[in-house]
Amino acid sequence: MTRPETTVVVVGAGLVGLASARAVQQRLGISDVVVIDKEATPALHQSGRNSGVTHSGIAYAPGSGKARLAVRGRALIEDYCRERELGHRRCGKLIVATRPGELPALDELARRADANGVRIERLRDVELRRVEPHAAGLAGLHVLDTGVADFPAVARSLADELVDAGGAVLTGHEVRNVVVAHDGVRLETAGGPVRADWLINCAGLQSDRLAAMCGARTDVHIVPFRGDYLQVRPPAADLVRALIYPVPDVRWPFLGVHLTRSIGGAVHAGPTAVLSLGREAYDRRPVARDAVELLRDRALWRLARRYWRTGLAEAVRSRSTARVADELRRMVPELDATCLQPTAPGIRAQALRSDGQLVDDFAFASSPRCVHVLNAPSPAATASLAIAEVIADRLGAAFGD
Ligand SMILES: Cc1cc2nc3c(=O)[nH]c(=O)nc-3n(C[C@H](O)[C@H](O)[C@H](O)COP(=O)(O)OP(=O)(O)OC[C@H]3O[C@@H](n4cnc5c(N)ncnc54)[C@H](O)[C@@H]3O)c2cc1C
Repeated sequence: MTRPETTVVVVGAGLVGLASARAVQQRLGISDVVVIDKEATPALHQSGRNSGVTHSGIAYAPGSGKARLAVRGRALIEDYCRERELGHRRCGKLIVATRPGELPALDELARRADANGVRIERLRDVELRRVEPHAAGLAGLHVLDTGVADFPAVARSLADELVDAGGAVLTGHEVRNVVVAHDGVRLETAGGPVRADWLINCAGLQSDRLAAMCGARTDVHIVPFRGDYLQVRPPAADLVRALIYPVPDVRWPFLGVHLTRSIGGAVHAGPTAVLSLGREAYDRRPVARDAVELLRDRALWRLARRYWRTGLAEAVRSRSTARVADELRRMVPELDATCLQPTAPGIRAQALRSDGQLVDDFAFASSPRCVHVLNAPSPAATASLAIAEVIADRLGAAFGD
């Protein structure tokens, strides 16, 4: 179906785009909302290639958008899954400190839990096995509010709801150019032209390029970080009851290689976090345009100078199942490399500022006739319904300008 004329067009049928479209319908009373995506079905990128965890909000700086929107978004997505009978389980998560040097960071997490209103139990070494019978470590936190959800099913449900309320999802419509005028936007897409009064940019890994097409001036661009996963084969999968995480380095936006039992019951280990030479290069083959941009990226070189040790360690680990197994064995000593097999990777869209600083928080911007989501990494799947409220309110505010 084509719909060349609409009030609001949302680019990107991931969780953030679909949730934003629904929020525009519900909060602003506009039914005529079209979500367009370049792929054949929604949620083929980050929203369908993640750990499937509904994060509690424990790890994020108190007062940040990530903390606030993760806490609200988790509650919203739990309610949504319950109402729409979609897969969700609040299974709790165990964070395990395995080195003495991690104990202060565990204390900091407990402080953040308190500040962010996340329920936790502090556990001594002998108490870890009460939560995860095969876990070992020096101490831990049991995060009661964390869960797992079927995010692709949530995306499908949001798309259905959008259509039922008078909107549309157009797949196979890669946006190739945008012309912004005083009264709206005209998109040239692979499926033909689309005109809209307003545009919302939720293009994930391509969001900076879309923002540039819309004429938005921003100080950030996307750097793709690959996350490889390994599946834990049965019977070793029985060593993991729910979610087992290491203590994260809160200066770094990734949570470390963890063990997750998904909503379908499979147990995964991962994801690693290494620079990807292609924004959508799931097969590891570099994409010329992306690779050249990265090599010329001064901000990335600045980042690399500060974090080269972390980056190198991650790059080595991402190529070695044995190294990942070593990390996992610190938390679950009975696991070994023979029970791990590679499975589908994901690639994160992480925004980087021109001064070489990773953007830690969610980031949004407005330009004439457009609202942009510039940084929506984890926990944006969890927070998608809450991020959508922010986007709809921004658009609502733009109507008055
Ligand atoms: C490995 C990994 C693990 C993660 N784990 C978790 C987790 O456990 N819990 C959690 O809450 N979050 C997690 N996240 C983060 C979460 O998945 C993302 O933050 C979230 O899915 C972002 O959604 P999105 O809609 O912004 O982006 P996406 O899902 O990437 O959607 C963007 C869409 O835009 C489309 N698009 C791009 N360019 C164009 C164009 N030019 N024209 C038309 N369409 C276009 C794409 O096809 C895509 O469908 C993880 C992410 C990764 C990669």
